[in-house]
Amino acid sequence: MSLDLRTMMLMISVLTLLLSGLLALAGLHAGSIRGVRLWALASLCYSLASFIAFADMTPTSSAWLIVLGAVLVMAGNGLQFSGIQAFKEQRIDWRIPLLIVGVVFAQSVWFTLLYPDASARAIANSLVFALINALCARALLIRIEPPLRTAYWFTGASFAVLAAASLIRAATIFHAPPGTFVGLFSQVPFVPARFLASSLILMCVTFGFILMLNYRLITDMQKIALHDGLTGALNRRGLEEEAIRLSAHCNRKGDTLAIMMIDVDHFKLINDRNGHQLGDKVLQRLAAVAQASVRSDDYFARYGGEEFCILLPSTTEEEARVLADRLRQAYAALTMEFGGEVLRSTISIGVADSIHVGLEFSALVSAADQAMYWAKQKGRNRVVAHSVMVCNVPEIVTI
Ligand code: GH3
Ligand code: MG
Ligand code: MG
Repeated sequence: MSLDLRTMMLMISVLTLLLSGLLALAGLHAGSIRGVRLWALASLCYSLASFIAFADMTPTSSAWLIVLGAVLVMAGNGLQFSGIQAFKEQRIDWRIPLLIVGVVFAQSVWFTLLYPDASARAIANSLVFALINALCARALLIRIEPPLRTAYWFTGASFAVLAAASLIRAATIFHAPPGTFVGLFSQVPFVPARFLASSLILMCVTFGFILMLNYRLITDMQKIALHDGLTGALNRRGLEEEAIRLSAHCNRKGDTLAIMMIDVDHFKLINDRNGHQLGDKVLQRLAAVAQASVRSDDYFARYGGEEFCILLPSTTEEEARVLADRLRQAYAALTMEFGGEVLRSTISIGVADSIHVGLEFSALVSAADQAMYWAKQKGRNRVVAHSVMVCNVPEIVTI
């Protein structure tokens, strides 16, 4: 069985054209996710390059078409790199694709039109191709949360294989006896197999991009489903999911779990006096202060309305009370200015822990809630620990 290079080139050209269309359509509905349309353009460049090779693949190919083919491949690779930067929400550094396209154009013109030397051209272009593919691989083979990690590493590994293959190609041509024909039109038997393999890996890159987009959309949707739109904190559903996970973890490790229930004092008054929109801004400020005060393994959530909740693993009620009082003071000291209006507000916090009420999330919430309402009754702007409240007012717990 022999591989027909021309047929393969036409097939690759059509397939990459279809993938380009697929990426372009996916990019239309990618929302704020950037980079997908750059990958679509990159695929179009590969499609055109394959078509040029299909249409003009002879030892006497037009020199300018050879230059154009090389430039299109490099432009495709450069656009892939820029697309990765955009996808990762980095600033696109256009100098890198422009530089590699410029270098490949110059050396292709030099070794094709001015001082024709197919071997030197192939070595020089392979080295640039290896460099840009290595840059793409480096940008993707990074530490990142699953499931995006699978997509990043799959795509990054494909780029790494392309970079290695280009280096091997450059080394092979460099060590070949002088006068050996190189390039796609040479009659060397392994050329079709090499072309097929590198085209398939290039397609793996495109599949990797589609996988990256898919996983990114899934993680973005999960984020939206589990977070509050106004404050960015976890929402009740997100909190309950974390609570189940944390309770099981603390149970296994014999660790304590503390909880804080936070409620804005006289929030209805703030809304009535200043309007709902300003009330929303107050909630955002409180969320920002609370987010800044929680530790990296604590979970901050909007429980509902103007009530917030913080889950604190490996923390006792007394430690949570100290942290809560720090948060209460930080919020009370905040002077909020909204369009000339100066506003100050306070919060009341109830704290409880698993040592006193167990690891059941509903029991923790109920205990912290009771303590928080006791703080309201005692005059607001204060922190009450559930166990202290039980000692002072045992009847309240039985209500
Ligand atoms: P207390 O000190 O006893 O907690 O008094 P309060 O006025 O804060 O208590 P209450 O629970 O009666 O009021 C809560 C108010 O929070 C009522 C509701 O309109 C308002 N609220 C709930 N969700 C939002 C929101 O998303 N934005 C704004 N601006 N207000 C909200
Ligand atoms: Mg309330
Ligand atoms: Mg309130």
